[in-house]
Amino acid sequence: MTDAVAPAASAPLALPWQPATLAAIAKQTARVSSFFLAPQRPFAFEAGQHVDLRLTAPDGYQAERSYSIASAPETTGPIELAIERLDDGEVSPYFHDVAAVGDEIELRGPVGRHFAWNVRDGGPLLLLGGGSGVVPLVSMIRHRAAQASRPPALLLYSARRWDELVFRDELLALQGRRDGFDLALALTRDRVRRPGNYARRVDKAMMTELLARLPQRPAQVFVCGGNPFVSAAADAAIAAGIEPRLIRTERYGQ
Ligand SMILES: Cc1cc2nc3c(=O)[nH]c(=O)nc-3n(C[C@H](O)[C@H](O)[C@H](O)COP(=O)(O)OP(=O)(O)OC[C@H]3O[C@@H](n4cnc5c(N)ncnc54)[C@H](O)[C@@H]3O)c2cc1C
Repeated sequence: MTDAVAPAASAPLALPWQPATLAAIAKQTARVSSFFLAPQRPFAFEAGQHVDLRLTAPDGYQAERSYSIASAPETTGPIELAIERLDDGEVSPYFHDVAAVGDEIELRGPVGRHFAWNVRDGGPLLLLGGGSGVVPLVSMIRHRAAQASRPPALLLYSARRWDELVFRDELLALQGRRDGFDLALALTRDRVRRPGNYARRVDKAMMTELLARLPQRPAQVFVCGGNPFVSAAADAAIAAGIEPRLIRTERYGQ
């Protein structure tokens, strides 16, 4: 298993900061909104990569945080970030409570080649996302949907409640296309609302069932979310027989 703990400070020093304009804000759930940023110098990225954002207070104090890119690499307009508001956080409440369309925010990227997927890399793909950890996996699913060749893919998305599932309607619609993308929802504090979904935390039995829904064993496994989710999901995948070397993880550090 390969771990990508990627605090903002670990970005390559050569990667320059640049101004980006906040082009739009869209509420996703009670706690998560999408922020669309237009960098002054647009850049190419791979699905799964992230950017670093830097805020500077009038007294010069700076705060940097990393945010995964939700957009598909095919997107030409502003890049979409989906940020969850942590009540006791520093940067995420700023975005939710203070930032306004037209603001300029410093950005550098793309970062995180390690946690990236391109359709050319093939599949089957097993994606395990907890909470806002679904964001880079959504970029991969959007990228897959935008391409003609579509390896089989299954996303297990765990959240507390139905109403907290970010990108829920889009993911359900993509599953409805029946083109080899399968979606399993695991709600930890809500009831099961659809067949083939779960109302519990991820475990080995769940993982075994999910593997049976893919036509072959996954060739690539991406796991993203807070520390407890990533550890539990990766452990369950290994217990269900996935080789650790196939698993790539990204931890959001909560
Ligand atoms: C590669 C990567 C991609 C990411 N992508 C996303 C994404 O797409 N969406 C998203 O919402 N988040 C994402 N994150 C997480 C994001 O970078 C921030 O960590 C998150 O937004 C919280 O930042 P904050 O400034 O609001 O909170 P912070 O101020 O950093 O606080 C975070 C938590 O730590 C606690 N804390 C802070 N300081 C201390 C201290 N001194 N002692 C003890 N506890 C403390 C706070 O109480 C809070 O609960 C990503 C992280 C990484 C590494």
